[in-house]
Amino acid sequence: MPEGDSVYRATARLHRALAGKTIVRSDFRVPSLSTVDLAGYMVSEVVPRGKHLLVRLHPPTDPDPAFNHPPLTLHSHLLMEGRWDLYGSGDRFKRPAHTARVVLQFTGITAVGFDIAQVKLVPTADEQELVGHLGPDLLGTDWDAQQAAANFRAQPQRGIGEALLDQRLMAGVGNIYRSEVLFLTRLHPLTLVGQVVGLEKAIEMSRRLLEVNKDRPRRVTTGLARTREPYWVYGRAGKPCLRCGTTIQVLKIAAEDSGLERDCYLCPSCQPAPRS
Ligand SMILES: [Zn+2]
Repeated sequence: MPEGDSVYRATARLHRALAGKTIVRSDFRVPSLSTVDLAGYMVSEVVPRGKHLLVRLHPPTDPDPAFNHPPLTLHSHLLMEGRWDLYGSGDRFKRPAHTARVVLQFTGITAVGFDIAQVKLVPTADEQELVGHLGPDLLGTDWDAQQAAANFRAQPQRGIGEALLDQRLMAGVGNIYRSEVLFLTRLHPLTLVGQVVGLEKAIEMSRRLLEVNKDRPRRVTTGLARTREPYWVYGRAGKPCLRCGTTIQVLKIAAEDSGLERDCYLCPSCQPAPRS
């Protein structure tokens, strides 16, 4: 699962390269969109929404006013392996061509979405149907900490470690930040949301970590002086805690909705287990 900051970076890069440019040729290699032709559409902006990437497109002006093309939004999700790459004219793809899902060709530059998922094209007016289920976006301009806290509080029986990955409560935290946020706020992942003391602190910590990393090429939660150990606990099972020396453990936590299990790393001393 990508973290919100990596989607933010990918989006910013696409926006810088493509905003204001008109599509010369489009090629959708997903069955539902294989006949779509976006030639003539101009990229008005590329924006992130949680882990979703939205390319907003301004329609070409049709000489016949009867054809009223609406602005469109090309939606994609990066999931685990997906990425958008940019190529100059004549460059060869750096990834296997069969993994390309969308090719948008502009004059002098081509954007290719490799292994991207959930590719959809909707009128921009209907964008909410695609991303309206998301909770407040940690890197969004409309970030709402109180709403995020209220969303968590409405689910008091879920473990905080499981709930942090639920993008419907708050959008942007992936598997790496989950472990790091819990460590930094000394919360055991199995603590029930209803019993979490300092829920706001954990939410604020999530925002701060994504915010400081959103423009960095390499993610670091331990501070730049510690770049040799970029994370406090993530990926460090069996190694000593950087704070207290206790051996870091790993716990598999299943998502409530999908049942998908993901590793959560913790220091059993810094993050004491809940009593019950
Ligand atoms: Zn520790």
